[in-house]
Amino acid sequence: MNFYITTTTKCNLECSYCYGKSCLDFGSDFKGLKIDYSVPTRMSYDIHDLARFIRKDPSPTIIFYGGEPLIEVEKVEEIIDNIPAERYIIQTNGLLLDKLKPKYVKRLNTLLVSLDGDETVTDRNRGENVYRRVIENLKLIEGRGFKGELIARMTVTVGSEIDKQVMWLLTNRDFAFKSVHWQLDALFWQNDFDKEIFGDWSERVYMPGVRRLIETWIERIEAAGEVLRIYPLIAIMYSLLTDEKCKLRCGSGWNTFNIQTDGNITPCPVMSGMLDFYLGNIWDSNPLDISDSTFVGEPCSECEVQHVCGGRCLFANVTKLWGDEGFRMVCETVMDLINSLRKVEWRVRSAMREGKVEVGDFNYGRFNSCEIIP
Ligand code: SF4
Ligand code: SF4
Repeated sequence: MNFYITTTTKCNLECSYCYGKSCLDFGSDFKGLKIDYSVPTRMSYDIHDLARFIRKDPSPTIIFYGGEPLIEVEKVEEIIDNIPAERYIIQTNGLLLDKLKPKYVKRLNTLLVSLDGDETVTDRNRGENVYRRVIENLKLIEGRGFKGELIARMTVTVGSEIDKQVMWLLTNRDFAFKSVHWQLDALFWQNDFDKEIFGDWSERVYMPGVRRLIETWIERIEAAGEVLRIYPLIAIMYSLLTDEKCKLRCGSGWNTFNIQTDGNITPCPVMSGMLDFYLGNIWDSNPLDISDSTFVGEPCSECEVQHVCGGRCLFANVTKLWGDEGFRMVCETVMDLINSLRKVEWRVRSAMREGKVEVGDFNYGRFNSCEIIP
């Protein structure tokens, strides 16, 4: 199983779509769900208690998460020293990577770093000079022996040109990423939904941009047998090629869980403090007993593409912060993505028959903190 460990809820950035929108939502009723506002900002439990809990799982993955997890870099190092795991993954904004000692850098299997595209786009969302500082740190940790998978994790906001930004991250000459994943800035807050603005952007800019990106991706496959590791594309195409039936692809609530800073367990870190979804705690629970405990309900459970989509996001499913209409508008983008990939599936199969690519080229390490469905 996979365990997010939220080392802190603090962050050293004030990104427009996270900190900025959280201020807009201040005082919102959270759709009547009960929230524990007393969850501490720092880990308040003993790491040996966490070790006792995780050791009951025969093959754990540990994913460090925050806030910004590296604000508590000593805790990250202490956990790696004391809790054996099959994989260590970190999701970070990258600004403090230079604080992580080489010994620990080498232990990381996957590093997801938040960048929203090129320097202009990233700095507009995340703050002045953030892009440059992160790239310098990434070069540094590569020099310190990082050999795992480095994934650029984009947040795509209204106004972004998805194809341009993804391709820039994959091909720019200064520091090109091998893997990119993106997540829509949608359904996370209550007061940022504007039907006209989101609807117009998703119809006119986002979905056509995704279709262009798929065309570029497939042309590379056909021309050079090169499968760009664009997560939403490789993972969905793998499912289509293998007829794989998916549950929620991030794993939250069924094989992936979050240990919040007070030792209570929730399905995912974004659901920290959501009392209705507490699943136990590190002292009294056995990881094997909480698996398969929470699943997405309607409309996902009735959806014709659920076996491909998986339900996108448990948090969005249970909160529906944009109401039914907003939820449906996001689903339209998911269905368009899946349908666009279905339309090119025969071209991938042709490339496979010609020996240019094989099905394994679309495979990936499951539950590596990529949600897969944007
Ligand atoms: S497309 Fe929408 S309704 Fe269907 S499974 Fe995905 S998130 Fe749920
Ligand atoms: S996709 Fe949703 S449920 Fe899954 S980890 Fe992200 S916020 Fe949590």
